[in-house]
Parts: sequence; C-alpha cells; structure tokens
Amino acid sequence: MRVGVLALQGDVPEHLAAIGELIPKGSAVPVRDPSDLERVEALLLPGGESTTIASLMVESGLFEAVRTRIGKGLPVLATCAGLILVSRELEKSPSGPNPPTLGALDVLVRRNDYGAQRESFEAPVRLSGVKGGMFPGVFIRAPRILRVGPHAEPIAYRGKEVVGVRSGRVWGLAFHPELSDDRRLHAWFLKEAARRR
Ligand code: GLN
Repeated sequence: MRVGVLALQGDVPEHLAAIGELIPKGSAVPVRDPSDLERVEALLLPGGESTTIASLMVESGLFEAVRTRIGKGLPVLATCAGLILVSRELEKSPSGPNPPTLGALDVLVRRNDYGAQRESFEAPVRLSGVKGGMFPGVFIRAPRILRVGPHAEPIAYRGKEVVGVRSGRVWGLAFHPELSDDRRLHAWFLKEAARRR
C-alpha cells in the first residue's frame, strides 16, 4: 500500500520516517499536489500550522482533491494541526480567523488550547485499539477536542479527556505520534487502512 504524507508545511519528515519503518521502502511518499494524491491509498496530515497548511492546500488544489478522496473512502490519519483541518467545526478563535476545514471528523475543536509552544509536554495516553500499555502523547500547542459528535468514536484518552477520535476512515489526534519513537499508533492506522481496502 502506498501511503502519502501531505507535504506542504509541518512535521512531514517525521511522519515519513515513522511509516517508513512500517511499510516497504519507497511506499511512503510526500504529497504536494493533486497528482501525487491520486497515487496514494492512505494519507497522513501532519502537525504544523493549520492556517498555513490550509492556505497552501487551497492554492495547490489539494483542499478540494483531499475532500473528494475522503468522500470516496480515503483513510486519513491527522495529527494536531491535521486534526484541526479534518474537523467538522472549530470554535471561534480570539486570535484571528480560523482556517477552512474539511468537515470529515465529527468533532468541535478549540485551537491552541493546551498552552503555548514552550508549555509543550508529554503525557501518557490510553489507546482503545492497541495493547502494550500507555502511549507517549506529545502535545505541542495542541487543539482540544471540546465535543465528540454522534458520528465519531473516541480512540485516545488523556485521563478522562478525549484526545483522539475517528469517524469511519478518518482519524484525528490532538498529539503527535510521529514525534515519539512508539510506532503502535501508525501501525494500528495502517492495519485498519489496509483491511478496509
Ligand atoms: N496550534 C497549531 C495550529 O493551530 C497546531 C500545533 C501543532 O500542530 N503542533 O495549527
């Protein structure tokens, strides 16, 4: 299975390296335009700056292209800024306009709600679908999932708080699995993506 990482801005190399450990060489590819997107069977949306990524997606034609592919069942793993981009609704932001979103994940999200960059932290996260104990959750200016809608299912918790959700084939995480060296989450996503092909 060829897996793409949206490569416009953000922690793209980290995601490519993470999935590169799990699938054959050459199967993890950067996606920079709609023709790259046509060649992949699953897509990762990295962390970064959601407003920047969204405007580059619109410019490159990838915003509409990704939305169309999601409608046809493309599996997507979206982390942090990626979670913001796939969500159905963003809370109005006091610090300026929100980016447009793909509306694929039935959640209400508040941006930048886990503190400033320098308040980044690591916390144990419980995953519903993997064995082997807690997952190291890296939170960097992370979005908070304020409400999980009826079409979404929680898959990751920090204490009682939901920090990861999926709606069918679209997964969104507030934290950054690509910034830890634990590959269980990427492996779980790839397994599910391959199973539903
Ligand atoms: N605060 C960023 C945003 O709103 C997300 C931060 C991240 O991806 N680490 O896009």
